[in-house]
Amino acid sequence: MSAPIAPRAPGASPREVLSRVFGHSEFQGLQEPIVDHVMASGDALVLMPTGGGKSICYQVPALCRPGMGVVVSPLIALMEDQVAQLVQAGVRAVALTSHLNAAQARDALRAIGRGGVDILYVSPERLLGETLLDRLAALPIALFAIDEAHCVSQWGHDFRPEYRELSILAERFPSVPRIALTATADAVTRRDIAAQLHLEDARVFVASFDRPNIRYRVRVKDNPRRQLLAFIQGEHDGDAGIVYAMSRKTVEQTAVFLEKERVRALPYHAGLDARTRSAHHERFLMEEGVVMVATIAFGMGIDKPDVRFVAHLDMPRSFEAYYQETGRAGRDGLPSDALMLYGLQDLALLRGLMDASTAPDAIRRIEHKKLEALLGYCETARCRRQVMLEYFGETIDPCGNCDTCIEPVEQVDRTEEARMILSAIHRCRESFGSRHIVDVVRGAATEKVRRFGHDRLNVFGRGAHLEERPWLGIVRQLVALGMIRVDLEHHSVLRLGPPDRVAPVLRGETPVSLRPEAPRGAGRRKAASPRATPKTVSSEAKGLFDALRAKRLEIAQAQHVPAYVVFNDRSLAEMAERRPESREAFSEISGVGASKLERYADTFLAVIREHG
Ligand code: ZN
Repeated sequence: MSAPIAPRAPGASPREVLSRVFGHSEFQGLQEPIVDHVMASGDALVLMPTGGGKSICYQVPALCRPGMGVVVSPLIALMEDQVAQLVQAGVRAVALTSHLNAAQARDALRAIGRGGVDILYVSPERLLGETLLDRLAALPIALFAIDEAHCVSQWGHDFRPEYRELSILAERFPSVPRIALTATADAVTRRDIAAQLHLEDARVFVASFDRPNIRYRVRVKDNPRRQLLAFIQGEHDGDAGIVYAMSRKTVEQTAVFLEKERVRALPYHAGLDARTRSAHHERFLMEEGVVMVATIAFGMGIDKPDVRFVAHLDMPRSFEAYYQETGRAGRDGLPSDALMLYGLQDLALLRGLMDASTAPDAIRRIEHKKLEALLGYCETARCRRQVMLEYFGETIDPCGNCDTCIEPVEQVDRTEEARMILSAIHRCRESFGSRHIVDVVRGAATEKVRRFGHDRLNVFGRGAHLEERPWLGIVRQLVALGMIRVDLEHHSVLRLGPPDRVAPVLRGETPVSLRPEAPRGAGRRKAASPRATPKTVSSEAKGLFDALRAKRLEIAQAQHVPAYVVFNDRSLAEMAERRPESREAFSEISGVGASKLERYADTFLAVIREHG
């Protein structure tokens, strides 16, 4: 390892450090006001989406202020990843975790004691246990950053009791600024964080939760594996991605299917033993272009910036979950995709899981509401991003980067069809599933229809003008609108929604506009995309980009670090497009700080020259 380039520079300006250490010429979004506030010894509570550049908010002031920065984090994998990236940038960073053996831990403590550490990462248990706080009290401390701060709140989904005890930092280090950060936005959690950590007087910074580089799209589930394959082969050949499915079985089968189709795919779920799981996680991080097929067990602790797509083969259970999972795409800011395939069967299954849970009624009602909000998103004809951000309390203009913006959905009048379906459900005594109801409306005299005498109903055959598939689409949208309920406990039979929604439609007082459902086949061919995601690099630069990636992988493997720790895709893309020829030009590439310039400029410049 080359010698660190003493990046800690009390007195240096944040901009200098941003450029020299991290290789960026500008702060993004709220980073600069946050850094300024912490530089002036202010406490801060920062709400920023993952991928929004949170870590810069404390890493830069930690390097500019006198003393060592202390970062509290609950996740060893994330700490080690950040330390690896900082070390590459020439920062003397250390993670004090249970992964260190006794000798390594002693060395780390000694380095801390003699001022040889710029930024210390530590778990809350470790920080509060034994004697570490006493040692720190004897040293100059630049700041405390408390990452994943929602862990302090019982309202959050990752409550960790030991986070509560971090309030002691306010008492023991009253003059050291504290900055708490989270990607969880809701107001209850936010107030709870402020109260629990004694940050009532901290300035609150709320960043937009929009991730503009992610293109959202939703497709009706038809033949999910084929749809997924078409999407990967058509738009993400050789890219790293995550595919989420609800069941272990689907995960296993999909991974095998993709492997057969020559996509490098690995399964990940709670049923695999810990060693296999961590081996797969490691390959996903270290190798290029691995697709992880996973249940939600594959979650926190993924900080890989170059995940180019996240695909859902099943509907997630809430907007929060969907936002968090799709947010793992494109953390480097480059164009990325989020694709969801969904069908009515998902809804029935999710509702069933919720109903079967032992949670109190109030919680279950909230969960059902959340699921309905997500269903509304799936069936909307509006901009998807607008619908999603509205759910999180933000208002934006139509985004131009989701499927409904790119291919606007015309609405058609389906008032008559809605009346037929609702009345068929009513006439069949709310005791049959969607296929049977559609058979009745279309006039398909199946054995079952005849057995129950449904061919004698008034509504029988009145909807013969549409095929089965568009009819099923209408049923799904009526479910989304709350006019139909799917009763899983009774064989997924369709029941009518509340009378105040259903009666005005049956009486013909409320018109119903729905999106038209493409006939079978049409949806298949363009299963995945309205228009391909913009490419990471132009076609002229692609050859050089691939060569730079190969070189990066070689370097990363030799050091046993993930490839993006050497340079992320964004830096490589810039090199491929701008073709710097001198060290000076190379230093202008974003992500190239002094340390990486020293280590890698010659190697990458050679690749660029060879590729001339
Ligand atoms: Zn949009």
